[in-house]
Amino acid sequence: MFRTKITKPPDVTYFDEAMKTKNIFKAIAFSIFFIPVWVYSQGNFDFEKALRIDFILSGDTQEQTATIANYLTSPNYYGSPDQTHPDFDYGSYRILLTTPDKQDTLFTKGFCTLFEEWRATAEAKHKKRAFKQTIETPFPLQEVMVSLEFREKTGDFTTIMTEKFSPSTLITKINPANFPTKIIHGSNVPSKKLDLLILAEGYTSTETENFFEDAEKMVSELFKTPPYNKLRNKITIRAMAVTSIESGTNNPRKDEWKNTAMGSTFNTFGTDRYLESLSTWKIYDYAAAHPRDHIVVLVNTKKYGGGGVYNHFSITSAGHPQSARVLIHEMGHGLAGLGDEYYSSEVTYSGFFDLNTEPWHPNITTLVDFERKWKDLIDESVPVPTPEKNKYKNVTGLFEGAGYSAKGIYRPALNCRMKANEADGFCEVCKLSIEKVVNFYSK
Ligand SMILES: [Zn+2]
Repeated sequence: MFRTKITKPPDVTYFDEAMKTKNIFKAIAFSIFFIPVWVYSQGNFDFEKALRIDFILSGDTQEQTATIANYLTSPNYYGSPDQTHPDFDYGSYRILLTTPDKQDTLFTKGFCTLFEEWRATAEAKHKKRAFKQTIETPFPLQEVMVSLEFREKTGDFTTIMTEKFSPSTLITKINPANFPTKIIHGSNVPSKKLDLLILAEGYTSTETENFFEDAEKMVSELFKTPPYNKLRNKITIRAMAVTSIESGTNNPRKDEWKNTAMGSTFNTFGTDRYLESLSTWKIYDYAAAHPRDHIVVLVNTKKYGGGGVYNHFSITSAGHPQSARVLIHEMGHGLAGLGDEYYSSEVTYSGFFDLNTEPWHPNITTLVDFERKWKDLIDESVPVPTPEKNKYKNVTGLFEGAGYSAKGIYRPALNCRMKANEADGFCEVCKLSIEKVVNFYSK
């Protein structure tokens, strides 16, 4: 998130000084010794532009395949060398960029997919489907191995695709779209901030101002919600008014279909309120115009709904009275890797979480490895498991029922934004997790 090139480490000074004094022999001697160190520590990436990896995940409940569709590059990545290895291990998948000999891992990023959610539906038991995915990394300056890995139910990662990428390969260069853009919060000066990018979906060219108003309403609500209220100085928010030919979004249950920029739709996987877009690559095409640590798609409809997939994007309708609360919940998934703390709903995932494995989500536990979750945040006076009593509504405890299951999966609080829109806000565990992620992107 800062634009300056990586400064040379002290080692290089010796080389430069030697050249100045024309002491070639000394310079050669130093270069032999120091250049490999310099290449390694100078940084392996250009953090101002992205390597965008478009790939397809396909398969069914039993098997999956990952296939690279295209390598692309776009400006405005603005990551930093401090963001190559997160200090949290979230996501059902991860991408690794390693040296060609695989001895050094240069970059790692966890992510989730709509494909894995679909794999948990009944449909996936008898048919195969393919999903478009995208992951962006800083642009490698040397040849790297690109590996995609899947987190098995045991918690171990399995490599599902690996291949060499060379920066000299001819790749597609994205020429970013140019739509009216407003800085909703912060300033446009590239700096060490979490960059949120809100994209308009289903707004026509005459509805640009409506979009900016809707985006501002969302942001205002976001900053009223802890922990975002105290993280304001670490966040920049831009809104880009992408225009659609038609206003609104697809509503399959009412047979309403709209020609919109990002093809958003309700009724994803047969759940009416599940608003999503399968046009991932289009969304990332538009997002290339600005820095984007996380993308939010704001859909021009009054109907309730949304979705959030970790390190993919968050999406929500803009016009429902609960829209801002939904967005804050979905960003819990999309930005911070939080799991759902609810367990009774129309969502039709069967066995999404394995009760014999500790989920990677920071805010839910199967008690398989509770030590590494929030155990140390529970006061001695709070019984474990914690009864569903009003008496415990403001404490951190261990409440049974979470992750779409009434039994065997536990959550940290009686209520939380990851459980219900009616909750006052996030529980302590979710607050700490969000703070950790925002701090990572702003360092
Ligand atoms: Zn929570």
